[in-house]
Amino acid sequence: MTVQQSSDLDARAVELDRSHVFHSWSAQGALHPMVLAGGSGTRVWDHSGRSYLDFSSQLVNVNIGHQHPKVVAAITEQATTLATVAPATAHLTRGEAARRIVERAPGGLDKVFFTNGGADANENAIRMARVHTGRDKVVSTYRSYHGNTGAAIVSTGDWRRVPNEYSRGHVHVFGPYLYRSEFWATTPEEEGERALQHLRRVIECEGPTSIAAILLETIPGTAGVLVPPPGYLAGVRELADTHGIMLILDEVMAGFGRAGEWFALDAHDVVPDLITFAKGVNSGYVPVGGVLISGEVAATFDERVFPGGLTYSGHPLAAASIVASIDAMSEEGIIDNARRIGADVIGPGLADLAERHPVIGEVRGTGVFWALELVADRTTRAPLPAALIGKARTELLARGLIPFTSDNRIHVVPPCVVTDDEVAEALAAYDDVLTLLD
Ligand code: PLP
Repeated sequence: MTVQQSSDLDARAVELDRSHVFHSWSAQGALHPMVLAGGSGTRVWDHSGRSYLDFSSQLVNVNIGHQHPKVVAAITEQATTLATVAPATAHLTRGEAARRIVERAPGGLDKVFFTNGGADANENAIRMARVHTGRDKVVSTYRSYHGNTGAAIVSTGDWRRVPNEYSRGHVHVFGPYLYRSEFWATTPEEEGERALQHLRRVIECEGPTSIAAILLETIPGTAGVLVPPPGYLAGVRELADTHGIMLILDEVMAGFGRAGEWFALDAHDVVPDLITFAKGVNSGYVPVGGVLISGEVAATFDERVFPGGLTYSGHPLAAASIVASIDAMSEEGIIDNARRIGADVIGPGLADLAERHPVIGEVRGTGVFWALELVADRTTRAPLPAALIGKARTELLARGLIPFTSDNRIHVVPPCVVTDDEVAEALAAYDDVLTLLD
């Protein structure tokens, strides 16, 4: 293909997109989408061959990297055998996918309900908790995102909830966030304890017997990679147990390697009643999500009909991609790589940037799940204005790095397969661009 033909394809992609594609969470007129046409591992490129380091993992979902050959082969093979089946059939690959997920989850959660993505995973987990407890309310946090369907979007705490508030029975609380503590805390322990005390009071005031579930992201992701202080999640578990409330942990973004563990909850000594997952389970090669269900909740539906279902629940192509992805992650030490590179390379590299760039207010994270919180002033902690985050984005793209930005933050979220050299390349780009913001 000639250079002219390649750049014509890029131009055509933009033209078709602007003419006919309606995008998520956007004022359509203001969009200038980048063109992507191919990828491998941590890199992606357009038709013209302009290449980028993907330090966004797209929407923080491509944990295994782009175009992993074993996952692509498994999808292709399944497509040539039987491309689709109804959910009520027994399908070997679907069963194998469920078994692999269950084997990596905490004991006692041994059933999987497959969905099409993360939002409907949360939707169905909430429904299970409501039917199981016979209660209505769901407690979740202001700093959260749980997806764009009825109960999931109203459980969400950020601005996206407000224009979508059509579902009843949702209560929001503040979770721990020491850098901008709502509780005047000065240590992680204090922050965790006071956030628990606040949750306890809200539950008392709402009436504990009206609450079906507490729904939390194990590590709130889009809200800022807010790794909870030690003991917080175990304390929430205790509170939930005291009042017969179901604990749902949303691992849609944090799970399957992102936090350097199969599940982020593995580092927090907590076993929920329900776990929701999506994204990293198959890196989004085929849309899929699901709910891991405890024996107690599952038993509710032994005799009683579960009032929910989806045509594509446990779709064979999704199942095949899950099997191949989990096997490759296990065999190739991909989760171990995420844990090691986070602790030894990304964390220290970002801490070094923070020493040299006053615009960085805080660095936090684990595995391949990090945030740089950018401030206009370190003393007041005033967030860096949106225009400057936009400028950082443009400058990083110009240096061949796709960033993930959210509010006043740059999230450093490469695939779990990222190499030391790629991290060094990215750190140099961040360094360069942060100099423009200091
Ligand atoms: N839960 C969390 C924590 C998420 O980050 C997301 C998406 O970003 C969702 C749920 C929704 O997932 P989906 O977009 O697949 O519906």
